[in-house]
Amino acid sequence: MAGILFIISAPSGSGKSTLVNEVRRLVQGLEFSISYTTRQPRGSEENGKEYWFTTKPEFERMISAGEFLEYATVFGKNYYGTAMSALDDARTHGHDLLLDIDVQGALQVMKKVPEAVSIFILPPSPQILEKRLRNRSQAEGVTDEGVIEARLSQARTELKHLSDYKYALVNDVLDQAASEMRAIVLKARGENGETFVLAASCETMAHSERLDAALASFGLG
Ligand code: ADP
Ligand code: 5GP
Repeated sequence: MAGILFIISAPSGSGKSTLVNEVRRLVQGLEFSISYTTRQPRGSEENGKEYWFTTKPEFERMISAGEFLEYATVFGKNYYGTAMSALDDARTHGHDLLLDIDVQGALQVMKKVPEAVSIFILPPSPQILEKRLRNRSQAEGVTDEGVIEARLSQARTELKHLSDYKYALVNDVLDQAASEMRAIVLKARGENGETFVLAASCETMAHSERLDAALASFGLG
């Protein structure tokens, strides 16, 4: 089976990019949709690789022209959006497509494409999330306390939408989380056996022990 749409959301710093890169190494035929954004490139990011970096007027022209499948203002600051053409191209070629988008965008896509497979990635605890955010900021030479605080508080807000997602993955040990995401992709493609059981254990409704422990650490659940 091909042409499946996967929606991945996670609070910033949860390790989503790291996990998605790992899964794309493990599973063949998973295309990654490159979003448009009005934010500035960070660190070693390149135009056309992580994002299409664009200006606010150009982004607003694309909104008016109806060129987005979804878009949102993220962290109350910059626009981020998925071009309709990314989905159209994947469908034309029968490819599975992975969208790495925030909760606001994910809710829009779930409405438009109800059969999409949605996955929420959680950090194991707010303490670990803070540590990852700080490590990443240091590595990129940015140490803006305000940004870290805003992202931690945003994480709690986003976690409240967890039950809208079919699957929930706790990114504590990278290899384990990557195996789980691989299993979810293979199950959506119709594979049975071990991967099916592993994927089913990651359903949000299944409330695994790891999921409940992560939620409790955020004061939720
Ligand atoms: P996101 O894409 O969710 O914003 P990143 O993939 O940039 O997050 O990861 C944030 C930081 O956490 C990076 O420094 C990354 O190396 C680290 N990281 C990601 N996954 C793990 C993990 N499972 N264990 C430890 N560190 C991790
Ligand atoms: P970052 O600036 O750290 O790369 O991403 C910030 C947030 O924007 C992340 O939660 C990411 O998932 C989200 N994001 C990236 N691309 C898109 C997009 O096309 N649409 C929406 N709605 N969110 C996006």
